[in-house]
This record gives sequence, C-alpha cells and structure tokens, in this order.
Amino acid sequence: MEILNAAEPKQTCVIVGASHTGVSLALQLRKEGWQGPIKLIGAESELPYHRPPLSKEFLAGSKALDAMRLRPEKMYLDNNIELLLGNTVATINAAEKSLQLTDGQTLSYDKLALCTGASVMTLPSQPVRDNVSSIRTAADVIQLKERLKTAGRAVIIGGGYIGLETAAVLTAAGWQVTVIEREDRILARVTSSIVADYLQAVHESHGVKIVTNATVSALAGDETVNSVQLNDGSELVADLVLVGIGVMANEQLASAAGLEVDRGIVVDACMRTSDSDIFAAGDCTRHPHKLYPEAGLIRLESVQNANDQGRTAAANIAGRELEYDAIPWFWSDQYDLKLQMSGLNSDYDETISRGSADPAEGDGFAVFYLKNDKVVAADCIAQPRVFMASKQFIQGGFILDAASKTQLADPDADLTQLLKSLQ
Ligand code: NAP
Repeated sequence: MEILNAAEPKQTCVIVGASHTGVSLALQLRKEGWQGPIKLIGAESELPYHRPPLSKEFLAGSKALDAMRLRPEKMYLDNNIELLLGNTVATINAAEKSLQLTDGQTLSYDKLALCTGASVMTLPSQPVRDNVSSIRTAADVIQLKERLKTAGRAVIIGGGYIGLETAAVLTAAGWQVTVIEREDRILARVTSSIVADYLQAVHESHGVKIVTNATVSALAGDETVNSVQLNDGSELVADLVLVGIGVMANEQLASAAGLEVDRGIVVDACMRTSDSDIFAAGDCTRHPHKLYPEAGLIRLESVQNANDQGRTAAANIAGRELEYDAIPWFWSDQYDLKLQMSGLNSDYDETISRGSADPAEGDGFAVFYLKNDKVVAADCIAQPRVFMASKQFIQGGFILDAASKTQLADPDADLTQLLKSLQ
C-alpha cells in the first residue's frame, strides 16, 4: 500500500469511542503508516468487545465476555495505541485542537476521529427500575441476566432486532414473551412485510405473542414494574420489561463543537466532518453512499459499517483520498435461523422471492429487492450462498431481464452461473 503522508512524524490522532469503529480505525491508522501517538478514548472501562453477541449468546449465557473481545490487549500495546478506557470527553475545542476529558485531562490533537456510536432511546417517563432493561452495553446485559434466573412473563417493547433476538433467547430460557410494536408489523424500519411476516410466524411458532399497532401508556408498579399498560386500556402483567425501541446517534459533542449535524454527524464520502481535521465514522454518522446516491445522507447501524467506515476514515486521516463504497450488510440470529441482509431496501419497485415463504417448510427463504431491474438489496434467511451472491448482484449493477428474474426466483437455479452469464 502506498503511504501518502505516512503522516508527518509525531502528529497525534485522538479517537473518541472505543467500540467496533474506533478500534478498527486505530489499527488501520497504524497500517497506513501513522507514526505519531494514537489515543483511543472509551467511556466503558471494559476492554473493547463485540456488541452483536450481547442480545444473543452473551444474554443466553453461552459466551463469556472475555471470548468477545475485539482484540487482545496485547494488540493495542504492540501497535502503540494508548487506551484511555473509563473516560469520557466533556468538550472539544476545535479552534485550539484540544479536548477536555471529564477526569480533568486536556488532550491536544492534530486529527480527531469521532466514533461515538449511538444511545438507546427510552420511553417518555420510563421509570428507572431493576426489572426494566435496555441492551447496548455488556453492563446492561450483566444486570439483565440477574433478572433472568427465574423465568416468568416478559414484555418486550419494540419489534426490531434487539426485541426479536431477546425474545428468542428468553423463550428458550422458559419465559413467556409478549412483544409490543407500535407499527402495524415488526421490523418495519428495516425490512419488507414479506420478511417480517416470515419472522413473525417463526416467533409465534415458538410461543411468542406479538402485538402490533400498540402504544405503551405506562409502566405501572412501585419498586418494580409489574405491568405494561397500553393506550387501548389493556394491561400486560410483566415480571421483566425490555425496552428496544431504537437508538439515536451520539452527536452532542460534535454539535457543541460547531460541527454540522443532522440526526447524526454529517460527513462526506471520505468521513470528513465540516472541520477538515475532524473525522467521524460508524453509527454516529450521516453519510452519502456511492451505491445509493438517490438515498442522500444515510445513517447505518451495523458492525460492517462501523468497521468499514473506521478503516476508510483511517486512510483519509493518513492522507489518502478514499471514498466509502462498501455494500451495507447486516445479520441477525434468532432461534436456529441466521438472517443475512445485503444492500439498502429502503427504495425498490419490485421484489422477487426465492423459496417458500412458509417457515414450516424449513428450507430457507430469500427476498431480492430491485429498482429499475437491478438488485439493490436482499434479505436471506438460512441461505448463506444466496446472501454471498446477492452482494455480487448489487455490486455488479446488472440489469435483469425476465429470464434472469425467473432464475433468481428458482431455489434450484445456480446463482453463480447466472452471475457469470451477466458479466
Ligand atoms: P430498531 O431497529 O429501531 O427497532 C425498534 C422498533 O421499536 C421499531 O420498530 C420502532 O418503531 C419500535 N418502537 C419505537 N418506539 C416504540 C414504542 N414506544 N412502543 C413500541 N414500539 C416502539 O431498534 P432496536 O431493535 O432497538 O435496535 C437498536 C440498535 O441495535 C439498532 O441500531 C439495531 O440495528 C442494532 N441491532 C442490530 C442487530 C443486528 O443487526 N442483528 C441486532 C440487535 C441490535 P418505529 O419505527 O415506529 O420507531
């Protein structure tokens, strides 16, 4: 790799946020030839860890936190990355290129990277009670696991990935689970009704009750919440409440520093903010995407985006001019099913289903989303090879004729052959 400014020796890069994005940025920056100090600040005191298992294996008790570390401690030492864990940035002074930590330290930087992630949303007047939880950090799940020891009735508010993954774990642990969703179906923000219906059937077959079009009016109880009241007057008895109603970008630091924000820190395709010495990457950003120019500025909440944007930001901090163009992808594990999603399915004019939409038939299922006869996204359930192929369809931007679409829909058709014929 050509190192452009191999950065001028001894410039300092400070990275705020030590999760997937910040860690990938820090390590890539060394690979890019950055010679000076790299300081990685994290609010949690834990050595950085993978977040996806929090609502899956870690919650289920089948994976320990030490098996989820992003990198061993030695790797930070070997790469001379200074970890400042258990530390929070109070303010950024962009004019002086410095920042103030809540422990009183002041750090100077030449380049700053904001990898501040997102925070969970809470219900209006959500009471702070031991049996009301959210999932974003290991500490959240450690506390939640204490409550899981005796199975009972759980009410999960929010039918997104957090809610549904947790429903799967709790059901397996013997809990009676109800999911409350305010939209008319689960996963409304992230997928089509075809896939949502499939997953709803899977959850119902495991005994989960899903209530849609439902608005919570109160969490009732004194020392602990013992029921969830809905606007229609109904009430659900609850021994445990999990709130998984989405996240908001952590943009406050950036906004207070005078950077442009708009429901996320606004960056260009090189992850540069409105201050050319300050970069941002991961869940906290709103960015343009080369493959989806019509979508305008988008915000992605995924590990892939965190890692890839972190690496793109590192390359640009080190002096290269690299635009972000990675195909978005996501995954979720629910029961024994693996869901893999590629691309953005927010704007499409046609869907093509592949396989049976009845989970009872059990052979997996995929839905392709097309715009102007090109695949722009796909959701694949227990179909890893179809998922791999879907990324190539998106990347290639092939225009599909009627015969190609027939093959896409046929579970017995070889997609590798179809891809070859299109190239
Ligand atoms: P989410 O995907 O935004 O889903 C939250 C759901 O809750 C939405 O359908 C939302 O509906 C609904 N909701 C909001 N307020 C509600 C209310 N008062 N009552 C009932 N329902 C309500 O967020 P999430 O599931 O909490 O996940 C949080 C973050 O973790 C996201 O970034 C997610 O991508 C990430 N995550 C990812 C994975 C994965 O990729 N496998 C797994 C777990 C978590 P509206 O659309 O109307 O707001």
